[in-house]
Amino acid sequence: MATSRILVADDDEAVLESVTWLLQENGYDVVPANGGYACLEQLEKRSPDLLLLDILMPDADGCQLLERIKGEERWRDLPVLMLSAQPPEEASVRSLGLGAADFIRKPYRPKELLARVQAQLRMGALLRSTRAALLRTEEQLHRAQHDADSRRKLVDILHEVTGDLSVSELFHLLVRRAARALGVSHCSVVLARPGEAHATVVAAFENPGLQQLVVQLERYPELRSALESGQPVLVEDLDTHPLYEGVRHVWGIEGIEIPIRSVIALPFSIDRGQYCVFLVRRTRDQERFGPADLEFAQAVITAAVAVIQRAQMVENTMADNARLEQLAQTDPLTQLLNRRALTERITAEMERALRYDSTLALLMIDLDHFKKVNDTYGHLVGDDVLRDVGQLLSDTIRGSDIVARYGGEEFLVLLPETDDDGAETFANRLREAVEEHLFARESLAEPLRLTASIGVAVYPAARIESVEDLFARADAALYRAKADGRNRVRL
Ligand code: GH3
Ligand code: MG
Ligand code: MG
Repeated sequence: MATSRILVADDDEAVLESVTWLLQENGYDVVPANGGYACLEQLEKRSPDLLLLDILMPDADGCQLLERIKGEERWRDLPVLMLSAQPPEEASVRSLGLGAADFIRKPYRPKELLARVQAQLRMGALLRSTRAALLRTEEQLHRAQHDADSRRKLVDILHEVTGDLSVSELFHLLVRRAARALGVSHCSVVLARPGEAHATVVAAFENPGLQQLVVQLERYPELRSALESGQPVLVEDLDTHPLYEGVRHVWGIEGIEIPIRSVIALPFSIDRGQYCVFLVRRTRDQERFGPADLEFAQAVITAAVAVIQRAQMVENTMADNARLEQLAQTDPLTQLLNRRALTERITAEMERALRYDSTLALLMIDLDHFKKVNDTYGHLVGDDVLRDVGQLLSDTIRGSDIVARYGGEEFLVLLPETDDDGAETFANRLREAVEEHLFARESLAEPLRLTASIGVAVYPAARIESVEDLFARADAALYRAKADGRNRVRL
């Protein structure tokens, strides 16, 4: 522990000397002051840990001096021990009332003086450490308050983005929220790839309608620096920062007035290979950015990146699901709906027909003697022909009708809002379309010709309760069409 420093002020040389000697002998660092002015002079130079002050001095009234010392903020906590030759009761009372810590009578007894000095130094140290602790607590409270504010702002951001927003919407939201939280007029997200000379602004607070704005990186040294180094860039003043030396020159030549004064550029990455910069800027009339702003901006970006990554994952998963669902419903050869997908549609259409008192028709189409195509021209040509038939059917149906591949060389067509007559007419149109079509192939000397037999079933009808019943009825009709000579329609 450092030696305690004691200032002793007395106009009596003998007392001053003896007190100084006594205290020095006991290990204290003593500064003697002969009289009131000398005392103030020493106090100004350096504040001691304790002041021993004589009450009666020719150049100053000790009590007035005490009052003055205690009136100053910097000496308020300095313990003052009053010394006086005469013990007028009211002098001691008065000095204690003015903030003296204690009172010692002259002639003093050395042991008593030492004991009182020690007690006051202890009290002074305790007071100082308590003050310091209080100050620290206050600072911590301030910091906690600031942190809480920052956190609340972040939580606001997070809350706003928990919905199912797209990544592009998230960027727009991020610049809006971050601009508000950071109190900035300019806030944007810029995407770039390393080594490229340009970058794309994908969202900007100052320009809410902006979608994609390409900027040249040579004009934005902070973007280039952030992208190249991967480190945050804090520019407190654009007019003096070395990073802008080159562009400042260009601005000068081109006579461009830049309204921006202060810049923060934070590089971040959402997925590998995609480099982003969070760019916040303040104009000349706004406060400059400091390290605390950088820290906060970093916290905002960290939170936002987590949210954006989650959104991207959801987007990807949804896209994957949609792709898988699409795959599960599609026949790979013809790209038509498969039987399973059509079965679902038929179920829904049957319910609809019942509810709205309408009808629907199902056509089952089977190519005639298709085996011969495979046997004569090979399986690959057979496949091509099946694809062509799928296309032909798709081209011939109406918008509300649905074509599917049932399997093999069999197709299905679902005709909503269609009765027996309508279905039969339509089936014949399809049959004719197949019959008239020329299936041409480079590998074939002559185009192929095909015919199809079509079985028709209409719902509602007696003994048709389910999709399977409807299929069975169409299948039976198809069988009759085949039996009756092929290339015909049967109901
Ligand atoms: P029918 O007039 O009685 O319908 O005679 P068909 O030869 O068309 O009928 P069958 O059911 O005897 O034979 C169907 C043929 O369809 C058998 C098979 O070679 C062919 N086939 C089924 N699926 C495919 C396919 O995916 N690709 C190709 N190339 N051929 C297929
Ligand atoms: Mg068949
Ligand atoms: Mg067939």
